[in-house]
Amino acid sequence: MEQHRRYWEDTYLFDVDTQVVAVREEPAPGIAVRDGIVHPKGGGQPDDIATVEMRPVSVSKDAETVWLHPEGALPAIGDVVHVAIDPEVRRRHAALHSAGHLLDACVAPLGFVNVGLSHTPGQAFLLYDVNGGTLPDGEEAKTALIETLLARAHELVGADLPYGAEIDADGVRRVTIEGLQSDPCGGTHVRTTGDLTGIEITRVRTKKGQLKLSYTAEHA
Ligand SMILES: [Zn+2]
Repeated sequence: MEQHRRYWEDTYLFDVDTQVVAVREEPAPGIAVRDGIVHPKGGGQPDDIATVEMRPVSVSKDAETVWLHPEGALPAIGDVVHVAIDPEVRRRHAALHSAGHLLDACVAPLGFVNVGLSHTPGQAFLLYDVNGGTLPDGEEAKTALIETLLARAHELVGADLPYGAEIDADGVRRVTIEGLQSDPCGGTHVRTTGDLTGIEITRVRTKKGQLKLSYTAEHA
């Protein structure tokens, strides 16, 4: 079976006619298609909202394959099916995810190391251990931190830096913001930092020696 991770190549490939390359009944009835445009939940980014032949499907993945689970009768291996994702949901997920990279590039130089994250709409956050930096103490310090981070973030949006991805020598996909940072990542990204708008840090919390930043962002 051969499935291409098309969502790694093109964030904006929203639908495709593609061949069914695998069918299974267990653990849940599902199909795998050659052109994998559907992003499965992982790395903090949620599942895409997807359809096969206009029918809603749930999404799962195993080690190598993204599976789509339609209700009712399954297509057969070799059938060509129309697979589509919700473009607005994909754009929102890619924007939140890409803003996570961007904000991390603003936070890390202040002496923090990222140890957790979510890019789920309405509850996106970045969690940090202190790595030489100083946790903000009190509301004034938190407000000052937000201002510092947003000023830097807006500067980077203005610089319109490209996001890129490549597979390194160890087979790990590394995602870069040109000239800024490089991280192992399997998600979907906007084209450049200039595709991001509405970046806000909605809450700063310090607890048990960690810094947690809640944030939001939109696709321009
Ligand atoms: Zn990423």
